[in-house]
Amino acid sequence: MPIIRVALDVPVATLFDYFASDATAQDVGARVQVPFGRKLMTGVIMEVSASSSVSLDKLKSATHIFHDVPPLPTALLDLLKFCSNYYHHPLGEVVMNALPGRLRSIKPLVQKSTTTLQFRFTDAGRTADTSSIPARNIVQNRLLARLRDSGAISREEAKQFSPHAPKALQKFVTLGWVKEVPVYPASFTKTVSGPTLNIEQENAITAIAAEIGEFNAWLLHGITGSGKTEVYLQLITLLLLQGRQTLVLVPEINLTPQLEAVFRARFPTTLLVCLHSKLNASERVNGWLQAQQGEAKIILGTRLAVFAPLPRLGLIIVDEEQDGSFKQQDGLRYSARDVAIFRAKQANVPVILGSATPSLESYYNAINGRYRMLRLTSRAVKNAVLPTIHCVDTRIAKNSDGLSKPLVMALKKCLARNQQSLIFLNRRGYAPVLLCKSCSWTATCHRCTSRLVVHLREKQLRCHHCGHQEHFPSACPMCGDQDIAPFGHGTQRVEATLTECFPNARILRIDRDSTRLKDGWQRMLKDIYERRVDILVGTQILAKGHDFPNLSLVGILNSDASLFSTDFRAAERLFAQLMQVAGRAGRSDIAGEVLIQTEFPNHPLYHALRRHDYDTLAQMLLTERKMAGFPPFVYQALLRAEAPQISDALDFLANAAAMTESSREVEVFDPVPAQMARLKGLERAHLLVQSSSRKRLREFLAAWHIKLVTLPVRKVRWTLDVDPQEF
Ligand code: ADP
Ligand code: ZN
Ligand code: ZN
Repeated sequence: MPIIRVALDVPVATLFDYFASDATAQDVGARVQVPFGRKLMTGVIMEVSASSSVSLDKLKSATHIFHDVPPLPTALLDLLKFCSNYYHHPLGEVVMNALPGRLRSIKPLVQKSTTTLQFRFTDAGRTADTSSIPARNIVQNRLLARLRDSGAISREEAKQFSPHAPKALQKFVTLGWVKEVPVYPASFTKTVSGPTLNIEQENAITAIAAEIGEFNAWLLHGITGSGKTEVYLQLITLLLLQGRQTLVLVPEINLTPQLEAVFRARFPTTLLVCLHSKLNASERVNGWLQAQQGEAKIILGTRLAVFAPLPRLGLIIVDEEQDGSFKQQDGLRYSARDVAIFRAKQANVPVILGSATPSLESYYNAINGRYRMLRLTSRAVKNAVLPTIHCVDTRIAKNSDGLSKPLVMALKKCLARNQQSLIFLNRRGYAPVLLCKSCSWTATCHRCTSRLVVHLREKQLRCHHCGHQEHFPSACPMCGDQDIAPFGHGTQRVEATLTECFPNARILRIDRDSTRLKDGWQRMLKDIYERRVDILVGTQILAKGHDFPNLSLVGILNSDASLFSTDFRAAERLFAQLMQVAGRAGRSDIAGEVLIQTEFPNHPLYHALRRHDYDTLAQMLLTERKMAGFPPFVYQALLRAEAPQISDALDFLANAAAMTESSREVEVFDPVPAQMARLKGLERAHLLVQSSSRKRLREFLAAWHIKLVTLPVRKVRWTLDVDPQEF
């Protein structure tokens, strides 16, 4: 009897063998229901074989192989195997988590047809003797005549034909005269033409188009507003003509209805599906199936879309490739950008990484020739120029409750011109600290190593890491003094200050608190576009992807903290973020101005920013990284451990370190507490390993992982994070 090897969503790095009398080689990739312990589970058949390494009398039989949707294609299974291997994560979990929820269920999928269905004559119907239908049955007779004439009728048409038609058609189906079959949209592609390309866009498109049939990683380095999207759209047009699919990955926050609308407007007859975590279960499975069947030609999605089955894949685009949301921070800790590159190589198709501020990893790959660099150096819209950027030295300039005089003056001018302005600070709430002035006590979260943020309107203290909330104390719990006060500035406080300074201005705060309501953000965007807002105050939600044509002033507060962070990536991230925020100003024909409030106006990062000079800063950061031995000059992996007691976590890591074989090529560091040493009540520590050779590191990790799973854990939860982004 055939034996199937099944991937199941359980945290063990093995496949499970079952008997399956009806399994054939065609069932590889199909879902299967199997008994597991005392319950039934759904898994995916990874192999069909004649033998098992488990003794046969121990094997159970699979209960059911699903044929409701086509099996996963081999290429996708290979991609998932690669991820399981590379990230050292159990294959079963990798495979099952790549499926939409509906397909993980133990029930077969009941499809509310995503494609339109049509009733068509069968051969039997065309030659059937219909004289048995009485003449007075007008509906049935007219339906038959209609089917004879046009060959088919859709359910909708039938309903309009007569309210009794669906029932009559059902009868014909039972008689075997008629069959319901899907209609595929006509294969012609209508493309609305875009703007006339500028020479740099033209060059980029020509270069990629010339090698569209093979793998290349292209780094499209284009300043904000340089028309990268237009380059994508033109290349997608090319792919559509070949009937091939394009996967477009965008950061979490960028997948806005605006972007979707741009794509839909350009390709009105093309089936485009969006795949992201906010979809409901049936939307997700429908989009996924349309991708799998090759019907959806454009797949626009966030990181999880990188695992969509795409039989006709022709191009992958990763927009804002530097964005942190491409890396998943729990479970399978994958980088969708890196998986996209592997996938493109596997499918032998090009991948385009687009950014105004590429990650140093990608930039380094481009300058050393592993990726190919294309540049867009000017803004695409006629007359739009990059904004001028100035620093306001807050050691000199008077600062009244967070806003310096020059910034207030600039806001005033902007209001007088009826233009919009934006105040950016990456800190929601009223103030980041609640401080006792007599004993210096500050409110901290008892579950995390973090301060509680003051939310004045709600009279609450909140932890932004674990969600813990508590009431505002009336006195200091340490010394009893009542002189406790918010310290520092968050968006709510800046909003309050602005309201005081500009009582007649329409001020809108945009952060995770204010956009929480369903459609809140969409409504706010509409207000901005329709000019019902004068001053925007907000966090990074505002930084990306949006084109606010009437915005001419950007003020940046509180960015200094990241200049001296212990995280070696902080400067890179700050620069990318500030470039993006600054890029919101002056997108159309009004000039933009950016004011940065800082105590360190001479910091090289601000120098580079003022000159819009990514390259100089990137070179400088690369030199620093090289000297310090940080990525991209080394490859890293982090063994993370958490436990109720820090000693347990550290002991585990010490034991793990003791099992490594020291080598010159792979460095193993000492276990240390994580930067956020306590989170949600658990103590966290980690152990870093690194190597200048990715291959050596992979070999090391593979051998080490086998030993790690044998270690006793005692209340410790551990994971291996390959290419970690956070420490
Ligand atoms: P990026 O993604 O590089 O920040 P976008 O693709 O959003 O830039 O383009 C910015 C604006 O420029 C958009 O409004 C877009 O329609 C416009 N645009 C792009 N290419 C051209 C062009 N060749 N001529 C005129 N406008 C263009
Ligand atoms: Zn006190
Ligand atoms: Zn907390």
